[in-house]
Amino acid sequence: MSKEMLDKQSHYQLALLGGPAALTRQPPDWPIFDESDRQALNEVMESRVWGGYHESVGELEKQFAAYHGAAHGIAVANGTLSLEIALSAAGIKPGDEVIVPPITFVASATAVSRIGAVPVFVDIDPQTINLNPTQVADHINDRTRAIVVVHFAGHPADLDQLTELCDRRGLLMIEDCAHAHGAEWHERRVGSFGSFGSFSFQGSKNMTAGEGGILVTNDAALAEGARAISNQGRRTGGAWYEHVTLGTNARLTGFQAALLLNQLQRLPQQVATRMERARRLRAGLRKIPGLKPTPEMLDERVTAHGFHLFSMRFDQDAFAGVSRSRVIEALQAEGLPVTAGYPQPIYRNELFKQHAHVVHDCPEAEGYCRTSVWLPQNALLADEQWIDEAIAAFQKVWERADELLPKA
Ligand SMILES: *Cc1c(COP(=O)(O)O)cnc(C)c1O
Repeated sequence: MSKEMLDKQSHYQLALLGGPAALTRQPPDWPIFDESDRQALNEVMESRVWGGYHESVGELEKQFAAYHGAAHGIAVANGTLSLEIALSAAGIKPGDEVIVPPITFVASATAVSRIGAVPVFVDIDPQTINLNPTQVADHINDRTRAIVVVHFAGHPADLDQLTELCDRRGLLMIEDCAHAHGAEWHERRVGSFGSFGSFSFQGSKNMTAGEGGILVTNDAALAEGARAISNQGRRTGGAWYEHVTLGTNARLTGFQAALLLNQLQRLPQQVATRMERARRLRAGLRKIPGLKPTPEMLDERVTAHGFHLFSMRFDQDAFAGVSRSRVIEALQAEGLPVTAGYPQPIYRNELFKQHAHVVHDCPEAEGYCRTSVWLPQNALLADEQWIDEAIAAFQKVWERADELLPKA
């Protein structure tokens, strides 16, 4: 082989095997902030209302609830307590059964356990990775009180079937929208289909203040109940040392709310950008048989996808038999910020050995965890050129996957 050919070959060599990385730039850092955030934080600082309810908290509640099509917002300390408070305020009692999906962050189920109720895991739809409404219907019994509906990756669950099912069987629905800021089902934003919509503002989420959460609801009594629980059992208009219900302290600070008000301003444009970049990425991935987006076909009822994650499935056969973990290493070496996602359905966590729960057969959830590959939301805020380079990086690893096999 000529020197020239060797050079050419080494130029294209996989980065994991010593070649140059396909991507030379990182996607935008997350979170995004600018001078207006410094100023907003400074205003709270100088107000000296560091705790209690700074006026920015009420403003966030108003604006965020309106954006998600709900009459009431209750800002809280995080998206785990928001779920616990929603379940309590909705009247879920110890021993009640609550159906939850197995493919989600653990809090979707542990919030149920924390209030003494029993999470019941049922399988997902293998395309949307959301609760499968048929499986849910099959596992409702006379102890079932509620369903925690997660909009995984920002793709709304089938709210047509799930709301109909909840209405028909007299069940409450709590939407866990931690992945779904700005997501829409039939042009209506998620969060007000159920009794409560619960959002997280934790550091990785599409709107963040490092930590934080909010509940939205259209029911004034539920809103008052949730607010009371989150604020030491106080009632609206009551005295500071008057406590009418068993509550806790789950208040959000003014510093967090001030940051979140700015984030909310940026959110609509970011939702649009992520959707546009995802469309481009999806089109590019059609050339690569071993990586399929979930779902493979877009659902027309999803008029906005939140894209907390860009979720794909890995097909080992299409990658020359190379394992997913090895391919992910190779993709990361090319500069792609991919991960394998949740390592297992959450019911496999040690903690459930000590806490009552029910697991129905979840072959689809098990299968998803063995094949998932994720790109994080900030990658979808990159420019178009980065997306094109990302597609080229996926393609490079796919084309040269056989080089990742152990040498005979
Ligand atoms: C992040 C997350 C939560 C918990 O939110 P925190 O604010 O981190 O407590 C709950 N559910 C899902 C699906 C999440 O991704």
